[in-house]
Amino acid sequence: MAIDPRRIRDKMVRNQIEARGISNPRVLKAMGTVPRHLFVDEALQAQAYEDHPLPIGHGQTISQPYIVALMSSILEVDPGMKVLEIGTGSGYQAAVLAEMGADVYTVERVKPLYQKARKLLADLRYHYVKTKLDDGTMGWPEKAPFDRVLVTAGGPDVPEPLVEQLSDPGILVIPVGSTKRSQTLVKVSKDRGKVDRRDMGSVAFVDLVGRFGW
Ligand code: SAH
Repeated sequence: MAIDPRRIRDKMVRNQIEARGISNPRVLKAMGTVPRHLFVDEALQAQAYEDHPLPIGHGQTISQPYIVALMSSILEVDPGMKVLEIGTGSGYQAAVLAEMGADVYTVERVKPLYQKARKLLADLRYHYVKTKLDDGTMGWPEKAPFDRVLVTAGGPDVPEPLVEQLSDPGILVIPVGSTKRSQTLVKVSKDRGKVDRRDMGSVAFVDLVGRFGW
């Protein structure tokens, strides 16, 4: 295709992410590195670096670049940390976390999305990202605990198994809303046995479906 992905990515990082106050160098570097256009259908590739989410099929979306950066930044990921993502979708957020040096475990409930993301991540040499087809509201108990947990779909509350599987200290980020498609981004911090919740602003995610979801 005629676009120069690296230049467009750099522009995306400057205008959409840094301009909105995100300064974590690892987040900026990862967002400037992962080839986002490969995580959407060919017909949408020219829009891949625009300031909005895009459909990935099965009624699901790849989040707006800024939202991926915002969540990655709230998560305070250090290299080597074990991170659980719920909602693999296209695999883009998982690739960003991997690029930040995280040891990524990601769970998706829609089989064709799981299969496609798994293959793409391997093709792009993110083969060390662990993928699973399951209801992610149950977490990934065999691999727990996790230093960080990120949910990229919106649920009615914080799924209890995810809090249980969070390390101490640990950070969990999840969109929570009493109605669908409109949530508050919630940061759950666990520290010395105490669990704290902080609201981080309004977001609009697709539904978290499952035992502890909708
Ligand atoms: N992180 C993704 C965006 C995903 S959209 C990306 O970077 O592309 C949300 C995803 O969460 C969808 O693929 C949806 O199928 C998935 N999902 C919803 N409920 C889930 C659940 N209980 N367990 C696992 N995945 C779930």
